[in-house]
Amino acid sequence: MAGKRIEATVVEAFGREFVQGNVPEINEVRCMGCTHCVVLCRKLGPNVLEVKGGVAVVARPENCIGDGACMTACPTKAIFLMSRPTGTRQPAL
Ligand code: SF4
Repeated sequence: MAGKRIEATVVEAFGREFVQGNVPEINEVRCMGCTHCVVLCRKLGPNVLEVKGGVAVVARPENCIGDGACMTACPTKAIFLMSRPTGTRQPAL
């Protein structure tokens, strides 16, 4: 039996590769539940995130397009691993 084929869409922007299928990982200690990531993701369309119990969670991972918008919205840098550096240019931290 043939193995399951995995396809990924990779988009390069801001010196990083965003891979469809990579979803945000949210650090519970850093997250203060401000909802900035939730509101921005909802405004942009995918609507992946929710705040539950005071912490952002990935409620609809199937909607994630891997654009990294939530990472840029987070004031505490609580969101990780949406993308990987391309090595051509590093984002400002
Ligand atoms: S923007 Fe950052 S701190 Fe605010 S809810 Fe999202 S992950 Fe938490």
